Amino acid sequence: MSGEFKGIWVYLERRGDQIIDPSIEVLGKARELAEKSRDEIVGIILGYRGLDKLGEVAIQYGSDKVYIIEDPVLEEYSTIPYAEAISRALTKYKPNIILYPATRNGRDLAGRISAKLNLGLSANTVWLDISSDGVLLAGVPGFGGAIMAVTKCLTRPQMATVRPGVFPKPQLDPSRRGSVERIDVGKIPEPKIRVVERTFYEVEDISKAEAIVVAGVGLRDNVEIVKKLAEELGWKFGATRPLSDEGLVPRDIFIGATGKVVKPKIALIIGVSGAAHFISGITGAEKIISINIDPEAPIHSYSDYSVTGDGYKIVPKLLEKIRGE
Ligand SMILES: Cc1cc2nc3c(=O)[nH]c(=O)nc-3n(C[C@H](O)[C@H](O)[C@H](O)COP(=O)(O)OP(=O)(O)OC[C@H]3O[C@@H](n4cnc5c(N)ncnc54)[C@H](O)[C@@H]3O)c2cc1C
Repeated sequence: MSGEFKGIWVYLERRGDQIIDPSIEVLGKARELAEKSRDEIVGIILGYRGLDKLGEVAIQYGSDKVYIIEDPVLEEYSTIPYAEAISRALTKYKPNIILYPATRNGRDLAGRISAKLNLGLSANTVWLDISSDGVLLAGVPGFGGAIMAVTKCLTRPQMATVRPGVFPKPQLDPSRRGSVERIDVGKIPEPKIRVVERTFYEVEDISKAEAIVVAGVGLRDNVEIVKKLAEELGWKFGATRPLSDEGLVPRDIFIGATGKVVKPKIALIIGVSGAAHFISGITGAEKIISINIDPEAPIHSYSDYSVTGDGYKIVPKLLEKIRGE
């Protein structure tokens, strides 16, 4: 079926005048796939103004070509105009594969395009390969990462969203050359929602933490004390999802299958049972130390050092030690 469908496209999500790292990671992986399949890699950027510079950056990170769709309507991400513009480009240019970063917007966009064009979509993939005849094999984790199903799309273009933090960011190669072209997809519909005010807040990026302290439900009555421990150690602070669902910690700091993937040199995990959904976000940690009151808690078996004890008693003692009291 691949015949008329050619090339690997990567949706280059941007924030302001930067292509975000998860898109660059996808570009790096696409480069690796293209070396096997001898496909051309095409990055696709949507927005308004200043996009040529981003196109050049994408080429230095591995794109052979970049298509730009420029329109005032696309200045900020909005589902309907973005999905419409990309759907039209896919119908017109017929790539064999299109990959999106599995960010909030990337997932929203790919899901919408999948429904719109009636295309298969492998979601939140953590492993990708390509067969010699251009079939994309995409590993989708299930049961919190306890299993991985290898999927393939039966429709074209084949589509997958790729989980951030799984593939390494490639090196920028300033000597790489390619073409940056504007493409016309006709009049793009206006968004149905207009942004009236934008509030920025500092988002803690824990995904690159070298050292992290993680709080779980076992310490829900005093999450602050675990946060304090992280601060005094100079480590990042993370948590399990239930604490975020309860509003005790921000959404951006929960770790796991549906949260952040972290690969710290050291993680101190307190009051966490070790459910598969959580563990799949922390398997890249070099050393895990855990504290859990239950000697049978699964977290012990994932730990290099584990303490069976009450976190509410141990954490204050650790703080005293750090403060030299
Ligand atoms: C589709 C889906 C996706 C999910 N995605 C995620 C995800 O991305 N990330 C995530 O974290 N979860 C996720 N979950 C939830 C996940 O399955 C677990 O429910 C969750 O990880 C459990 O969090 P926890 O370990 O903090 O809490 P619990 O499982 O309740 O464990 C609390 C632990 O604290 C211990 N404890 C109690 N008191 C103390 C004390 N005083 N001192 C020390 N230890 C104590 C207990 O022994 C227990 O082991 C997902 C679930 C579903 C269904």
